[in-house]
Amino acid sequence: MNWWESLVIEAQEIINKHHQDESSFFAGCNFDVSFIQETDDAFGFVDGTYPNYKIGLHTLLSKPTPENQDFIRMTIVHELLHIIHADWNEGQVANEEYRLANLAGYFQTLLRRDEAYLKRVRNLKDLE
Ligand SMILES: [Zn+2]
Repeated sequence: MNWWESLVIEAQEIINKHHQDESSFFAGCNFDVSFIQETDDAFGFVDGTYPNYKIGLHTLLSKPTPENQDFIRMTIVHELLHIIHADWNEGQVANEEYRLANLAGYFQTLLRRDEAYLKRVRNLKDLE
């Protein structure tokens, strides 16, 4: 079992509890998570069609520290919202991500993620 698998499950539980119950939909899906340099938006993207989905996360989150696991859990919530609501635009998904983070007790996590991400990008740029 990969270390990120429990985070996928926890992200699904946040959706089921605070957004809408998608447990039977999720039960039929396969999720694969990989860490890559290029992402469509800041932290991740999702690709695929039912029932196989590939979630790509930024390599800046690839070490399984407690902080990164918090960041990843909510980033996966974001990508799951894209899957459930294929017709939503980025702003609608981001708004719901923040609403769910607030309800699930992860609002500070999102603020720290955005701040940490900018800081790490800046540090990487300094190394170039
Ligand atoms: Zn997005």
